[in-house]
Amino acid sequence: MSRSPSLPERPRLDLDPDMSPSEQLAALRDHHKRLCEVNRTLEEQLEAARNRHSDLTDEVDRLERENETLKTSSLYVATAEEITDDGVVVKQHGNNQEVLTELPPQFAERLEPGDRVAINDSFSIQNQIDSETDARAQAMEVEESPTVTYDDIGGLDEQMREVREAVEQPLVNAAQFEEVGIEPPSGVLLHGPPGTGKTMLAKAVANQTDATFIKMAGSELVRKFIGEGSRLVRDLFELAAEREPAIIFIDEIDAIAAKRTDSKTSGDAEVQRTMMQLLSEMDGFEDRGEIRIVAATNRFDMLDRAILRPGRFDRLIEVPKPDHEGRKRILEIHTREMNLADSVDFDRLAADADDFSGAELASLATEAGMFAIRDDRTEVTGEDFDDALEKVTDGEATDGQPIAFA
Ligand code: ATP
Repeated sequence: MSRSPSLPERPRLDLDPDMSPSEQLAALRDHHKRLCEVNRTLEEQLEAARNRHSDLTDEVDRLERENETLKTSSLYVATAEEITDDGVVVKQHGNNQEVLTELPPQFAERLEPGDRVAINDSFSIQNQIDSETDARAQAMEVEESPTVTYDDIGGLDEQMREVREAVEQPLVNAAQFEEVGIEPPSGVLLHGPPGTGKTMLAKAVANQTDATFIKMAGSELVRKFIGEGSRLVRDLFELAAEREPAIIFIDEIDAIAAKRTDSKTSGDAEVQRTMMQLLSEMDGFEDRGEIRIVAATNRFDMLDRAILRPGRFDRLIEVPKPDHEGRKRILEIHTREMNLADSVDFDRLAADADDFSGAELASLATEAGMFAIRDDRTEVTGEDFDDALEKVTDGEATDGQPIAFA
C-alpha cells in the first residue's frame, strides 16, 4: 500500500527588527520564493492525491461488482420430470442427476411435467424457463413452405426420383402403400460431398407436398446445446407432430451418429444419449402419420451402422458431385435470371469446371455477374465466366471454400 507523502515544512519568516529595510526586503523576497516552492509542491501532491482517489474509486466499483456477482450464484437448467404429492422430480441437464425437490407454491399451478426450470445448488426450483427462451426455437430452423422446387435442382434426376418415391409418395399417397401392404421407408439418408444439393432435395419435397420443413443440424446439437441433445430430438419429433405434414431434416447426422469410440468422456456420453433418443423416436415412428425423416451427411464412412438398420434410415441415397451434363444443367439453372451474352458456352464451362459441386457452380455464376457489374455492364460475357472460374478456383486452392453467395 502506498503511504501519504509527507507535507513540506512550512517556511517561517523571522524578521530581525535590527535589519535594514533592504535586508528585510531581501528576507521577504526569499520567504516569498520558498512559499511559492512549497505551494508548488503542495499542488503536485494534491494532484497526485486526486489521481489516487480516482483510481481507488474505480477499484471500489470493480470490487463491488465482483462481490455482487459472487453473491448471485449461477443456476442450473433442469427438467421437471414428474410432479407428485411429495414434490417434483427434477433432472439436471448435463449430468442427468434426478432429485426429488419441493414444489414452491408459486409454481404449483403452472408447472407441468416436461417443463424446464432453473435450479440452484440445493436443487430448489428458482424459476420456470418459459417457452420463448426454450432452446428448441434456436436449435431448429422451421420453414412453413420452402420455395425450392424440383426444377431448381440440376443433375440429380435419379436421386430426385428415389427421394420422391421414398418421401413424397408416402405423404401424398399413403393409401396406396396400405393397399399394397408395405411400409414406406422410415427414413432416407442422403450422403455425399458438401454443396451437392442434399438440403435442396429435402426442401423441394417439402415444397411439393406442402409440408413444414424442420431442420436441425447435428453438429449444433452437440456443440451448442450440451446436455439438451436428447430433449431437443424429442422436441423435434413433437414439433413435427404439431405441424404435420412435416419433413424433418437432420443435417450433419454424423455429429450425433458417429461410430462408437472407446473414449468415455462426458461429451461422448451426451452424443450417445442424443443418438439413442433419435433411434427410439424412429423405432416408435410407425403411427406418427404424415411425418417423414430425411438426414444428410458428408461422412458416410463415420456413421454408426445402428442407424442404418431396417426401420431406421433404410433408404440410402448417394448424392454425388455433378457429372458434365449435371454441371451444365446447374449452370443453366443458376443463370436463368441473368442477362447472358452469346459468348457464354455452358458446354465448355462445364468441362473447365470439372470437379465443381453445385454450390461452387452457383458461386461461379454469381462471381461472373460481379465481374460484369464491376465493369459497369448489364450483360454477362463468356470472359466474365472465365475470370470467375479463375477466381473461384484460386479460392479453392487457398482455403477450399469458394465464396458463396446466398
Ligand atoms: P452440405 O452438405 O454442405 O450441407 P448440401 O449438399 O446440403 O451441402 P445444398 O445446401 O443443398 O448442399 O446446396 C447449397 C447451394 O448450392 C444451394 O443453395 C444451391 O444454390 C447450390 N446447389 C447445390 N447443388 C445443386 C444442384 N444439384 N442443383 C442446383 N443448385 C445446387
